[in-house]
Amino acid sequence: MNDKRDWLRKLPSVDRLLSHDRVQNLIKEYSHRLVLEAIRDDLELARRSILAKQNCDISEAAVLDRITHELRMGFQPSLRPVINATGVVIHTNLGRAPLSQAAQAAMNAVAGRYNTLEYDLDEGERGSRLVHAAKLLRGLTGAEDAIVLNNNAAALILILSAVASDREVIISRGQLVEIGGGFRIPAIMQESGATLVEVGTTNRTRIDDYEAAVNEQTAMLLRVHSSNFRQLGFVEQPPLSQLTACARQYGLLSVDDLGSGTLIDTRAFGLAYEPTIQDSIAAGFDLVCFSGDKLLGGPQAGIIVGKAELIARLKRHPLARAMRVDKLTYAALIATLQHYLRDEALQQIPIWRMIGRELDEIGATAERWAAQVGGKVVDGRSTVGGGSLPGTDLPTRLLAIAVASPARFAAGLRQADPPVIARVAKSQVLLDPRTVLPEQEADLLRALSRLALDDDQEKGSLS
Ligand SMILES: *Cc1c(COP(=O)(O)O)cnc(C)c1O
Repeated sequence: MNDKRDWLRKLPSVDRLLSHDRVQNLIKEYSHRLVLEAIRDDLELARRSILAKQNCDISEAAVLDRITHELRMGFQPSLRPVINATGVVIHTNLGRAPLSQAAQAAMNAVAGRYNTLEYDLDEGERGSRLVHAAKLLRGLTGAEDAIVLNNNAAALILILSAVASDREVIISRGQLVEIGGGFRIPAIMQESGATLVEVGTTNRTRIDDYEAAVNEQTAMLLRVHSSNFRQLGFVEQPPLSQLTACARQYGLLSVDDLGSGTLIDTRAFGLAYEPTIQDSIAAGFDLVCFSGDKLLGGPQAGIIVGKAELIARLKRHPLARAMRVDKLTYAALIATLQHYLRDEALQQIPIWRMIGRELDEIGATAERWAAQVGGKVVDGRSTVGGGSLPGTDLPTRLLAIAVASPARFAAGLRQADPPVIARVAKSQVLLDPRTVLPEQEADLLRALSRLALDDDQEKGSLS
């Protein structure tokens, strides 16, 4: 009992801690109130440990270390940059497409200043935010007009609500997909008040199937990109132009949800064919919608391009106001689209640079890493991800690090600053240079050498 009392008496006092230089610096950084709280909390925990006869370092230095750590952790934002060494280019959990330098600069330019978001400089009066990016999108896709919304899910809901509410929408059974995160096409339809009419079978849908389902309640033929899954074998879908011709013949609207939405032909990279946005417009779809942060390589957005009269109807719908995007999105999107206009998308847009990286160059990077931190270089595959190009991937070279516990090693990498996200295999951790930005390499190698050292020490090989 006396023992405990002794220990309690040895606890540093709040006043003494407050007069410490380190604490004064913490107060400058975090405020007097937060530092005082941190000190009181730590001393309280120390007191309880003593009473429970648990070990607790109560030296002044230890208390200061702990409160510094606590304060730092308290200000660590939950949204932080990470190093993506998974080789999944459009990684939905890791923020999808990283933005180009120009897109970042454009966001920065309008972020802290007043801007022309809804201001017409020529007239000196209120303008519409809906004009931004529209001209660029018209030029790049060949569509008559465009509208930008918060994401592609919103785009689809707006289309269905504005032009198919209380009417029937025909869709192939092969396209009734769940895109991820519980986003299911049938649920969206229901939410928008449209009635889903399924035609064909899971693997095959022919144009006659669509025709047979048309009646006076039908508003639209909808095509949905199968996104994150791929059907192989005995499968059939009508060509795009056949679908749009059928819609025209019966006076119906044709809508294409492209999902990733690329302006660049993916076959140039040895990947499967995806209809480009231009292909869809040329095939005659009235409306085409796609994401801004998948294969476009820009900010999160849902973009609809198509017939001017229909886009005008979408703009007037009350949901368009609720789904509109802010100045930062427009700034990043315009800068991203300008890369395509200048024919420099493959060099300037990070996801295209990653998709287009030469195997030799990836291999040389992996060898350089291996020379610095150990491990060996092996063949592997990178994936595009983001629900685009399912089942097709790119050959890559990986740095493979054999460790006692790959899961624990990967967890250690996630604790690095910035955190490193790697692939975990049976007896090794795999790192794909394809998705690591050049400016992140030094941080990656530092995290790796630190951890590799720890792992060696555990195995006793350094003793
Ligand atoms: C990804 C995707 C969506 C959803 O797009 P978000 O921009 O994530 O809302 C919708 N449809 C398809 C086919 C998709 O691949």
